[in-house]
Amino acid sequence: MKEPMNSYEQIVLDVSDEGERLLEDRLIQRGDVQRVIHHAEATGKKLVHRGTGRALAFYRPKSVTYWVEYSQNGEVFRVFTAYSHRMVLKSSGSTKEWVKSGAGSDWHCDQCRTPLEVQTVRLQYMQSIFPINLPACSGCGFILIDEELAIGKVAEAEQALEDK
Ligand SMILES: [Zn+2]
Repeated sequence: MKEPMNSYEQIVLDVSDEGERLLEDRLIQRGDVQRVIHHAEATGKKLVHRGTGRALAFYRPKSVTYWVEYSQNGEVFRVFTAYSHRMVLKSSGSTKEWVKSGAGSDWHCDQCRTPLEVQTVRLQYMQSIFPINLPACSGCGFILIDEELAIGKVAEAEQALEDK
């Protein structure tokens, strides 16, 4: 008898060949991508880009946070990119205490219907906390880690802390 499918497994993905290679290189499973999209669509916690209309969302099933940029066409979800990081995002107390830099973002919070603003938030990894300026939603505390940051500085910091 066939095992019943988890609900996230019913998410239909459209991934290009290039996308498949990217997922493979980054050790991201299709199931991880499906979980991110399923979680985003079920909860409404996602960002939407002002220009492209694409969605960006994350999900952290265990010790890794997965991000997926996607668009929906009927029942099919087209995947543009996916990346991951292990570092945990922590806001420093209330979002009201965040220090705004005055800079905006092309992403807006779909749930709060507000554009993200660049502000000082805190990233935590193991015992270390780093204040950093990132686009975030003052309404719900959604912090955007973009692809460049995740595969660049965040990956470097994770590596440096592990090597200690
Ligand atoms: Zn929000």
